[in-house]
Amino acid sequence: MTLTKQRFVNINKYALWAAIIVYMYGLFGTKVIQPGIFFALAAGFFNLLHQKYFNARPRLAAHLWLLPAVIGAFTYPVLLEKQPSGQNAFYFLITLIISLIPYLLLIFGTTEEQPPKKERLKVISFRIFTQITVFMIYAVFTAYSFIYGSNVALFFWGMFHVVTVAILPFLFGRVLCGWLCPNATLQDGLFKNMTYPRPIPKLPRAIDEQSKSSAMYVSGEIDKNAPYFPFTLLLSWFPMFFCETVFDLTGDLWYPIYFMYGLFIGSLLLPWRKMCTHFCWLSSYRGIAAHGSMWRIRYNRQKCKQCKKCQAEEVCPFYIDIRNQDNEMPATCCLCFSCMEACPFEGVITFRRAPEEKARLKAIGKKAA
Ligand code: SF4
Ligand code: SF4
Ligand code: SF4
Repeated sequence: MTLTKQRFVNINKYALWAAIIVYMYGLFGTKVIQPGIFFALAAGFFNLLHQKYFNARPRLAAHLWLLPAVIGAFTYPVLLEKQPSGQNAFYFLITLIISLIPYLLLIFGTTEEQPPKKERLKVISFRIFTQITVFMIYAVFTAYSFIYGSNVALFFWGMFHVVTVAILPFLFGRVLCGWLCPNATLQDGLFKNMTYPRPIPKLPRAIDEQSKSSAMYVSGEIDKNAPYFPFTLLLSWFPMFFCETVFDLTGDLWYPIYFMYGLFIGSLLLPWRKMCTHFCWLSSYRGIAAHGSMWRIRYNRQKCKQCKKCQAEEVCPFYIDIRNQDNEMPATCCLCFSCMEACPFEGVITFRRAPEEKARLKAIGKKAA
């Protein structure tokens, strides 16, 4: 079958609608959710949002639809062991149908679309691979925590935080926010390319003003987007405690409820990654810790041609205009390398070890004096 654009959209659209209906019915009707159905939602959204990319690569798109079946098969015996009921078998079967029909249609489909030619930095391909891998691990642990209780999830999140809070910021600054955080992967995968006019294109001034943050006090004037620490803390922790205490939701449930639904709805209303810049308390903590980073992005004003290809709103998840960051890495930079990829000229934006950078800045300072 030839996969015209319309056919590609229809295959994914109908499968996605089926997944949404099954998910809603499970959530509000029978109170049974097969973990594979989450992946069906993700596969549908992902293929539709990146339709230009995936229509030219139908086999890759097909493999995304294989994920719900694999996760479904993987979790089915465990679900059955915990809760032996016919409903589990029914939801597993439905998940298989929703997953395998688009898989087969796409895997045997042919297309005349050409893959878009875009030069990719190897480091960015590696970053995307890392993001997807970590996201999968996160998803598997979360699925398990639903089934087995919180121990596995607690261990995972404990280790995740030890590594990302105590080790990584001092080596690579906020690399977590560019490479590892599942929330970031979700936002990048689902919302980065959504260009429709957002209902809240700009946050109220009072909130934006709060961006003159504790992280910024450490970094000085260079980092106007760093979120205000107590403000983000309040916004992210308050609803979480509210969920736990008022609704008596357990630790297993608040994470997906608060983070995933909140993130999903918030990201539909606000521009890409605004959930990160204004609503994540880890954002400001890591902004502060990032000042100890051993490795940094460096912008060289002397070599810059001012072509504006690296403009903040288009490439940078944290809305940093790298051209304002004369020889200093902003605390919010997550080392995603997107500005480096966007810059058509060699050596303008580079990646350097901090000691070399400090020695260079010292030398410049002496010259100026
Ligand atoms: S700001 Fe928060 S949600 Fe966003 S990538 Fe960083 S840790 Fe994740
Ligand atoms: S400044 Fe560059 S490397 Fe840092 S977050 Fe923005 S685009 Fe990514
Ligand atoms: S893309 Fe490169 S050369 Fe162009 S303005 Fe940005 S840093 Fe300068």
